[in-house]
Amino acid sequence: MSDGKFDGDSAGVTALIHHGYAPPAGFAAVQPPVHKASTVIFANTQALQARQWKDKTGYTYGLHGTPTTFTLEERISTLEGGLQTLLLPSGLAAIALVDMALLRAGNEVLIPDNAYGPGKDLARGELARWGISHRFYDAMDPASLAAALTPATQLVWLEAAGSVTMEFPDLPALVRLARAHGALTALDNTWGAGIAFNPFAIQPDLGVDISVQALTKYPSGGADVLMGSVTTRDDSLHLRLKATHMRMGWGVGANDAELLLRSLPTLALRYHAHDRAARRLAEWWSQRPEVVQVLHPALSGSPGHEPWQRLCTASAGLFSVVFDERYVPAQVHAFVDALQLFKIGYSWAGPVSLVVPYDLSAMRSQPDWRGTLVRFSVGLEAVDDLIGDCEQALVSLE
Ligand SMILES: *Cc1c(COP(=O)(O)O)cnc(C)c1O
Repeated sequence: MSDGKFDGDSAGVTALIHHGYAPPAGFAAVQPPVHKASTVIFANTQALQARQWKDKTGYTYGLHGTPTTFTLEERISTLEGGLQTLLLPSGLAAIALVDMALLRAGNEVLIPDNAYGPGKDLARGELARWGISHRFYDAMDPASLAAALTPATQLVWLEAAGSVTMEFPDLPALVRLARAHGALTALDNTWGAGIAFNPFAIQPDLGVDISVQALTKYPSGGADVLMGSVTTRDDSLHLRLKATHMRMGWGVGANDAELLLRSLPTLALRYHAHDRAARRLAEWWSQRPEVVQVLHPALSGSPGHEPWQRLCTASAGLFSVVFDERYVPAQVHAFVDALQLFKIGYSWAGPVSLVVPYDLSAMRSQPDWRGTLVRFSVGLEAVDDLIGDCEQALVSLE
């Protein structure tokens, strides 16, 4: 990790798997147990009054943490290279927590134009109604962020790579601008998953203030759990977030936490397998005459390839292709419908490959996109079978 890159095959991965917990005497099982509670019983009134929900010195109520959720919080901190983590019922709830805890009426939040769509909708909806303004900036142009920063800017969101169009931004340049302005930075790190790069050390001396993940994606890996995390390296910032987390009552269920604890030890293996397969498939697509662009930050010629190369040691199993304009959307939809192994559905990072067509003109404030885009999430099937599936479905395009 010395050059700021997270070496997914050594220190971090081992620390995650050999993460400590104290099993009952004589029962040193590999996996930690599942503890469930709403009520936690206190020995007496003095113990009731003395115990604090703010730190982890004791348990007060199931909503404020159990041994199971504390263990998961600590493991996500290890994965992210952070010190404190909060768990939420979804990735979107994690984004909402950051906005709600750090913004108030009169503040402005800056969001990349290519950020996860529902996070933008939250800004346009509840945040606007509460007197919190927002602006979208072009994450691929640091001058666009510089121009958007005002005295009202309290929080700058970052996302790497961008949703659907997969541009990898110059994170150090963006973080430096926000920091020089005195604004907090929050990264949606779902794509990197704590494997592709270390959000708190994108350079040896530079990191984001907050890293958010949809644990729903790679950390779960099963397409069957919804959960989010908010990780920090600063106690007072963590406590601001935790106070809102507490007041909103956003706890997570122990069984869901258990599924995450079960999946985390294989996270790095799965991430690299998705990465390898996605790169092979993306390279196959880049030879196809039907598409004009393949959007994958590890492919030279893709937007953000240079910062990706500088900052990352791996890439998620996601990429998009833009079909030639000679194909109308109905033809592209016929191709998508003809796919057999790629299933049509939202989310990503599970075992089953997924595909979604997108109309970008409805998603970007400055659309200069031509042609229909299709986003692929590569699962864990044999990559030759996935290539064969794309090849047979292309017949339906004509
Ligand atoms: C899926 C996703 C989210 C939201 O996660 P949910 O658990 O589905 O709410 C947030 N950000 C990114 C980048 C995502 O891909």
